[in-house]
Amino acid sequence: MSEQMSRQMASDGFSTNPSKTAQTTDSGTAPGSGVDSLWQDVRVALKGELGATTFDSWISHLTMVSMEETRVTLSVETEFLRDWIRSHYLSHLERTWADICPQIARVDILISEVTSAQVRRTNGTKVDGSPQLVAPGSPASRPVQRSNPTDSSTSFGAPLDGRYTFDNFVVGKSNELAHAAARRVAEADDVPFNPLFLYGSVGLGKTHLMHAIANEIRRRDPMRKVLYLSAEKFMYQFIRAVRYKDTMAFKDKFRSVDVLMVDDVQFISGKESTQEEFFHTFNALIDHNRQVILTADRPPVDLEGIEERIRSRLGWGLSADIHATDYELRFGILQTKLDALQARGGGISVPSRVLEFLAHKIVSNVRELEGALNRVVAYADLVGRPVSLEMAEDVLSDLLRANERRITIDDIQRRVAEYYNLRLSDLLSPRRARAVARPRQVAMYLSKQLTTRSLPEIGRKFGGRDHTTVMHGVKKIEELKASDVAIREDVEMLERMIKN
Ligand code: ADP
Ligand code: MG
Repeated sequence: MSEQMSRQMASDGFSTNPSKTAQTTDSGTAPGSGVDSLWQDVRVALKGELGATTFDSWISHLTMVSMEETRVTLSVETEFLRDWIRSHYLSHLERTWADICPQIARVDILISEVTSAQVRRTNGTKVDGSPQLVAPGSPASRPVQRSNPTDSSTSFGAPLDGRYTFDNFVVGKSNELAHAAARRVAEADDVPFNPLFLYGSVGLGKTHLMHAIANEIRRRDPMRKVLYLSAEKFMYQFIRAVRYKDTMAFKDKFRSVDVLMVDDVQFISGKESTQEEFFHTFNALIDHNRQVILTADRPPVDLEGIEERIRSRLGWGLSADIHATDYELRFGILQTKLDALQARGGGISVPSRVLEFLAHKIVSNVRELEGALNRVVAYADLVGRPVSLEMAEDVLSDLLRANERRITIDDIQRRVAEYYNLRLSDLLSPRRARAVARPRQVAMYLSKQLTTRSLPEIGRKFGGRDHTTVMHGVKKIEELKASDVAIREDVEMLERMIKN
């Protein structure tokens, strides 16, 4: 699709596609709609890029569900397909969508069994915790500032998400520094620290804080030019500018903003010319006392593939890290999200027992936690029964299993040492006496079975042993389990203890 056409569609709000008759469609949405035709274009582009085999095996299973301002929602029939497509092709999907419709910043994939419930329950907004564009509780529910296609400062960035605010960001020990720093930047008239670098693993609220800052700055002073975009989008824009020999305009645009926010800068690593451009932009803004805010999944020093001088410069301002959540924070977040769901019109109540259960069990990240709550609520609504603990266990069995499996080698070593009455240091020591060596092998075996760590990683955790030693230990226990009842019982008992 031509650029002009996609721009046209953008200003049309995607309602129709004026210059194209929609082809039809195995994609399941209403034929004839503009969205459907865009989806068709994306499919064609992906087929070209990925090849027919890959396309048929994976992409062809996707069905178009909806398109809202900045995001597209697709669905597939099984969780396996969804996970696979997400982990292997999500970036292709997002890039291709952005190519065809520049304002699409994100693609979500749902499992189709719950799709209809989700859509119904939220009147078209999604229920997986992803943000809506209007903040119901924010000052007079005024429409959020959206990017205006004619506004040159925002057409390069991604639109802001009005539902991510400081008001609905729950503060706990793990994120209080990041939150305080974010607020300071949002509320200050000057530039308190530059850059502000927020880091932490996925789903812990970095993007939420970025949008909260942007929304707050705009609320205070609508004239300030705030540009928010992902690092991938930055690269994409840059590469495109180079391709169309338009780098001057690119530079001007980026350098004329008051606040630049680049999300997930770990993705800039490796690509030299983009890195260079990013760094120049960054320096130019900092030199002119414009606020720069960055996020990544790791601290600046650990950004591999980024040149040393850039790395160290990124750490010059304030770096604030967001740690893993604790139980209290998870519970607080669940309550806040539930309030928001109810405010949006759901009469569904969720017993605190269920919230406690979720806060205990879903520990990996907040996005998953939120998704779990939404799934339970959507399910209860669909089947017309009140939410109960049994229902939650049932609906979330896959998620619960995945969270349970996050057992660490440290846990295993501790349990095994305890069980055999050994000191932890014995287990890790070079001693080879049978009384120590056998339990050590049991611990290695369990590490292999119950974690996703590789043999070399396990070896390192066991006092720096070689992976062949670990392999030998694992084999030995496998053999003994078959021939020695006592060992088998030990191993089974330990396995049960560690899993619970
Ligand atoms: P990240 O960018 O770190 O991967 P996000 O900012 O996208 O994570 O957060 C994932 C989801 O979790 C979002 O829906 C966000 O609103 C929610 N979330 C994370 N932390 C909090 C928090 N402290 N309070 C409220 N919601 C949170
Ligand atoms: Mg993020």
